[in-house]
Amino acid sequence: MKIAVLGATGSIGTQTLDAVRSCLPNAEVVALSGYSNMETLARLVSEFRPWVVWVPNVEAAKHLRQLSRFAAAVGGCEILVGRSDLNACASQTGADVVVNALVGRAGLAPTLAAIQAGKNIALANKETLVTAGELVMSYARKHNVSITPIDSEHSAIWQCITSAPISSVEKIILTASGGPFRTWSRKRIAAATSEEALRHPNWDMGAKITVDSATLMNKGLELIEAMHLFAQPLSKIEILVHPQSVIHSMVQFHDGGVMAQLGLPDMRLPILYALCGPKRVKTDFPRMDFLKHRELTFEEPNIENFPCLALAKCAAETGGTLPAVMNYINEWAVQQFLQNRIGFYEISEIIDKAFSIYNVEKVTSLASITEAEAWAAKFVKRILL
Ligand code: NAD
Ligand code: MG
Repeated sequence: MKIAVLGATGSIGTQTLDAVRSCLPNAEVVALSGYSNMETLARLVSEFRPWVVWVPNVEAAKHLRQLSRFAAAVGGCEILVGRSDLNACASQTGADVVVNALVGRAGLAPTLAAIQAGKNIALANKETLVTAGELVMSYARKHNVSITPIDSEHSAIWQCITSAPISSVEKIILTASGGPFRTWSRKRIAAATSEEALRHPNWDMGAKITVDSATLMNKGLELIEAMHLFAQPLSKIEILVHPQSVIHSMVQFHDGGVMAQLGLPDMRLPILYALCGPKRVKTDFPRMDFLKHRELTFEEPNIENFPCLALAKCAAETGGTLPAVMNYINEWAVQQFLQNRIGFYEISEIIDKAFSIYNVEKVTSLASITEAEAWAAKFVKRILL
């Protein structure tokens, strides 16, 4: 198997390479990309010796070349630079499968380029499907490529539905940890800092998804992701808070039976399943000890304290270009929150304001998405901080 890893320096990227290193000795890493953290990228290049490596600009390329480890490994490794070359990194590097571990809207264009080049996609970048799910899934059908989920909930659903035809699915139960503010009062959440939002109880992830988990927007994005991946309507997907994050999601079938997928919170498992499933790869990763997880509890999500969830449901129901607008504004607002420029609830307030004035369009082509994102870019520029 030849693998390209986009976003190699991030949380999912490094865990993908860890899983490859420890469990897939015959896999060849042909391409890597990194936006920042050139030291990590240089170390990965020196270990995996890809054919190409992507960086965002000439300064980053210069820095990478200067790093001694990179210089030692560089023989035959080409450096691609700049936005359009990221698409080439995804599509023209001889990979059979592209792991998309990019964060945010940056993930969409390389996914489309890879699909058009006939590459299978192991998808962590949920924003791709939130922004343009129908287009992406129809491109995948047209080019006969598979899109396999890395997101742990979607991997769990995929593992559960392998036992029965999709037509026998009555309901998907998407589990949510509830994030770090699950038990906080609304007043206390209103004053939450970015440091507090970044302390996720169960998972160690990149900053954007960690804040999305605190607002529950992450679960909203995952709801839309599940609708596209499994071709299910909103009415058949339920969100259930399960603070222990042991059950990664469940599927209820039309005979009333329920399948759940359980495991320790370790992203290397869904990553390996996305690369090799339904085949099970042998690992020596830590095992579940049920005596240490005696309690599995469930709650309804608190929509009042976490308004992003209701906004995402509204976007899922409305469809068209609204999810792309929501995704763009959310990504911008999360960055502002991380820089302490806005408060926690301003993230949802800004999205809500956009929803009240935006005229939703049908998605007929990629141009519809580009226009919607251009509207969102103008909208956020008008917000006075
Ligand atoms: P991260 O921030 O740790 O890593 C992101 C990677 O993308 C890095 O390599 C970074 O250099 C690169 N990058 C950032 N901005 C870029 C840009 N504008 N252009 C090109 N490259 C850019 O993020 P992560 O936590 O690994 O998450 C990656 C994706 O996986 C997200 O969509 C997230 O929602 C999803 N996901 C993550 C986890 C997790 O456990 N981390 C779990 C489920 C899903
Ligand atoms: Mg998830």
